[in-house]
Amino acid sequence: MRIAVFPGSFDPITKGHIDLVERACALFDKVIVAVGINSQKKYLYTLEQRLSWLQKVFESNDKVVVDHFEGLTVNYCKKVDAHFLLRGLRNASDFDYEKTISQLNTIIGDDLETVFLISQPAYSHISSTIVREIIKGKGDVSAFVPESISNQLNK
Ligand code: ADP
Repeated sequence: MRIAVFPGSFDPITKGHIDLVERACALFDKVIVAVGINSQKKYLYTLEQRLSWLQKVFESNDKVVVDHFEGLTVNYCKKVDAHFLLRGLRNASDFDYEKTISQLNTIIGDDLETVFLISQPAYSHISSTIVREIIKGKGDVSAFVPESISNQLNK
């Protein structure tokens, strides 16, 4: 079984993430969307809130499993027997960052291949960072996040 782990903060999940997961479902038998917990990072939303949004977004997709983990991504991949890591590339700065991480993970991981999908043009400007800024400024994020999230935020 081809299992891919899509690790991230998903603070919050955006339409860019969703597009990536949906496209990855054509390549893998199972895609685990895994929220990585980094104790050094300050998040806008709690882990519970982020997981609950992810579960809602992917509830009708039976190839997708939502989970969370602490520590190294490579250790989590080993635990769930995944040999593929899924990451998205929006631009050259994503590439520079991801290239290093991917090379490190190849060395410290156990037979782990990172698979990159290039963002669709319609989504390449979307980042969770930008979405958080708009939310903090009380702006409208409905173009960037799934309806379940924008509806909840607009309440
Ligand atoms: P991290 O904290 O690891 O940066 P993110 O939740 O911001 O986590 O992103 C997780 C992954 O999703 C990364 O590989 C990132 O490149 C990808 N990604 C984020 N936004 C988009 C987008 N709009 N289109 C495609 N991929 C994206």
